[in-house]
Amino acid sequence: MSETFRTDSRQMLGRLRAIMAEEGGGQTRLDRITRLIAEEMHAEVCSIYLFRDENTLELCASEGLRAESVHQTRLKLGEGLVGRVARSGTVINTDDAPAAPGFRYMPETGEEAYSSFVGVPIQRLGEKLGVLVTQSRQKRLFSDEEIYALEVVAMVLAEMAELGAFTGEGAAMKARHSQPVMLRGGSAQEGAAQGHVWLHEPRVVITNPIAEDPTREMERLHEAVETLRVGVDRMLNSAQDGDKEQLEVLEAYRMFANSKGWMRRMQANIDSGLSAEAAVEKEQSAARARMTQVTDAYLRERLHDLDDLSNRLLRILTGQGQETGAEMPADPILVARNIGPAELLDYGRGLRGIVLEEGAVGSHAAIVARALAIPLVINAVRITTEALNGDFILVDGDQGIVHLRPDDAVTAAFRDKMAMQAKAQERYASIRDKPAQALCGTRITLKMNAGLMADLPSLESSGAEGVGLFRTELQFLTRSHMPKRAELSALYARVMDAARGRRVIFRTLDIGSDKVLPYMKPTDEPNPAMGWRAVRVALEKPGVMRMQLQALIRAAKGRPLSVMFPFVAQYDEYSAARAEMDKALDRERILGHPLPSEIEVGAMLETPSIAFAPDAFFQEVDFLSVGGNDLKQFFFAADRENERVRRRYDTLDMSYLNFLEGIVYRCATLGTRLSFCGEDAGRPIEAACLAALGFRTLSMRPASIGPVKSLLRHTDLGELRTILHEERARGTQNLRKAATDYLRSKL
Ligand code: PEP
Ligand code: MG
Repeated sequence: MSETFRTDSRQMLGRLRAIMAEEGGGQTRLDRITRLIAEEMHAEVCSIYLFRDENTLELCASEGLRAESVHQTRLKLGEGLVGRVARSGTVINTDDAPAAPGFRYMPETGEEAYSSFVGVPIQRLGEKLGVLVTQSRQKRLFSDEEIYALEVVAMVLAEMAELGAFTGEGAAMKARHSQPVMLRGGSAQEGAAQGHVWLHEPRVVITNPIAEDPTREMERLHEAVETLRVGVDRMLNSAQDGDKEQLEVLEAYRMFANSKGWMRRMQANIDSGLSAEAAVEKEQSAARARMTQVTDAYLRERLHDLDDLSNRLLRILTGQGQETGAEMPADPILVARNIGPAELLDYGRGLRGIVLEEGAVGSHAAIVARALAIPLVINAVRITTEALNGDFILVDGDQGIVHLRPDDAVTAAFRDKMAMQAKAQERYASIRDKPAQALCGTRITLKMNAGLMADLPSLESSGAEGVGLFRTELQFLTRSHMPKRAELSALYARVMDAARGRRVIFRTLDIGSDKVLPYMKPTDEPNPAMGWRAVRVALEKPGVMRMQLQALIRAAKGRPLSVMFPFVAQYDEYSAARAEMDKALDRERILGHPLPSEIEVGAMLETPSIAFAPDAFFQEVDFLSVGGNDLKQFFFAADRENERVRRRYDTLDMSYLNFLEGIVYRCATLGTRLSFCGEDAGRPIEAACLAALGFRTLSMRPASIGPVKSLLRHTDLGELRTILHEERARGTQNLRKAATDYLRSKL
């Protein structure tokens, strides 16, 4: 970087600051800025294109292009060189624009006279706002220094746009955060919610992107980085020794905080005329751009760490802590890039809904949101940049759609939907104490799935007849260290107390696959869903399972106890796990602890293999529970986490139903108690079909009990079974249409 350039860049920013301080509206400012940049760049043309909407760029100011084209010329994202800069978020620099790939001639601008073109994106932390372009008659490539200077200016423009500097007077950049926005993400927990945005990490606002006194800015940066380093060291010192994951993250923080390269790049940004905070943010933007290119999971994690560290540094510099002084709204909808399960539990049931920019259906946060029955939309791209604290927001967890600052028509339609759901809830409440008895007289037992202490009150409100699946891994996933036996025992005892005599089936720890304990070294497996998980881990490293079985026996304190092992793929795995239970009972007896008055030990049927196990297995288990989520993914060989394939295969596919019917038949002939506890048990049409196949116990999310019971009470299972057989004989591959037509006719 040459000395001359530094002076130029600083001079340009100095003049820019003067323009911003002058009287005049948004358009006047933009016009003056383009004139200034053209002059400083020794070019005939400088233009600013801003997004009119998500897909359209509008020429908002230009020095050099025909005045009548301003606010007339528009380009779609990806169209022409400008559109390509906007789409890719990278610079295009060419000395022969008409020959460059993607060039599109816009006659109204008069740009045919200009051969050289350089376009840099105007963006703030990856959020695209527009494109800054310089063109010149002379055929030349712009130098790296000139491009860097333009990037610095573009960054300042982005900050100013954020502050509303260009609002009004026809500029496309209308008050950015006042427009309605609809975002389509993925559904991770169903339900509809309305409320006001509560940002997990409020945005840092930079009010002074240009340095008045670079020496002072340099000092500020050094002081802030020092404060950051001391803070990281303090966190490292107080970190738990056994908490390897946390230590790893903190070590990465320390490495970045001491990185000379990071510091040098931020210093160069100040050198070019930016304030300390703008210098940090420019570097952070560049790191985020790298993040989108990186596919390696480990590297991405480290770039995330760097991003977190940059946020900390920005908060130190601006004094804008987590605590912004804003008060949490009474109806908070949590908006975050991502969130850990423990943090989510801290917010608890007070949240009306959750919207995440990232996330996955099987993430720990999603598991917790599901357990708390809070509507959750994931992968809502741009939500953290679009939403401001206090914005009105509608969350449609069924469709995975978010309406931010919706207009009245959208709000009215959404409220109608919520009202309909509320009416349905009233209907369900009215049958809460009635049995799930089908029209043919068959009685189905409906139980609930749970995983948190907080779930237990739902036993009363939903009318569930017990807990058919208590997922014990949540207590392990939401902590930063392995829970102690006494802690677990106390918790399980409280769960049993709360169930007041109704059976709770505790499933032993189901980790591995998508559920990775934060304090366990992750095993790098090519295919974790089919890897070292659940009972496979428990049998090879029995320490944790033994501790858990002991905790369960102690929690029962002489009451009946039900335990089941997850992911049993063959008979001998069950026998080995059961032997562990027998050993645990023996040990407790010897120690003089009271034993459960009755004990039943079951297995989950989650792999096709176990459906074909020897008869002896079916006779030996006390019960079997079909874990349809896993069973279905292995039956169809379609990953339950993979959005591309997970909806492709229907539960009401005849092949799958034939398979399930075979399981029902074996259990009936061999005298094995059978239930179904995957998500499908909570979907009314699927549940009715499962009951028609012969399942007599279904376990589901508490919120599903009402809808399922309501439909079952209108269904004649014999009739539905006949339809199933007829369709099968007819060669129908999918029962859904026939089943839905029949069930509709009964309502
Ligand atoms: C299942 O696989 O259906 C199940 C209930 O277990 P999980 O969803 O916890 O894997
Ligand atoms: Mg499972």
